[in-house]
Amino acid sequence: MGYNEEAFIKILKSKGLKVTNQRKAVLKALSSKPDQHLTAEEIYELVRVDTPEIGIATIYRTIQLLCELGLIDKLNLDDGYVRYEIGKEDKNEHHHHHLICVNCGKVLKFDDDLLDELEKQVEKTTGFIVHDHELKMYGYCRDCQNNRK
Ligand SMILES: [Zn+2]
Ligand SMILES: [Zn+2]
Ligand SMILES: [Zn+2]
Repeated sequence: MGYNEEAFIKILKSKGLKVTNQRKAVLKALSSKPDQHLTAEEIYELVRVDTPEIGIATIYRTIQLLCELGLIDKLNLDDGYVRYEIGKEDKNEHHHHHLICVNCGKVLKFDDDLLDELEKQVEKTTGFIVHDHELKMYGYCRDCQNNRK
C-alpha cells in the first residue's frame, strides 16, 4: 500500500492509539521502499534521516505495534534476519509471493496470486477457508543465471 496518512490516522484512532511522529515515520519509511524487505536496523537508518532523535528501542516497539495493527507485515526470507514490508491496503487481497535466489540472496516479489484453484480445492476438500498465505520459491535470478553461463 502507498503511504496513506489519512487511513493510517483513522486506524490508530479506532484503536484508541495516538498518532505519533515515530509511528508516521516508520510507516513512511516502509512505504517509500515498497519492493524491499527491510530489517529493523534498515528502517532505523531511513527514519533517522528525518527524525534523528529517534532511538532503536522506539523503532522496535513501533514496528511491533504496526505489525499487530496489520499495517506492516513481518517476514522470514531465510537469510537469518527478520524483515518487514508495508501491509496490503486491501485486506481481501492475498500476500504476494517471494522468489528467493539461492545464489545471491536477492528477493523478488511476484504479484499475481494464481492460487485460486488451489485455494478452492483446499476449501472443498478440507472445509478450511484460506484467508492468506506466504509462498516462497527458491531458484536462480536472471543475473545469476547469466553469470553461470
Ligand atoms: Zn491467494
Ligand atoms: Zn541471484
Ligand atoms: Zn514482499
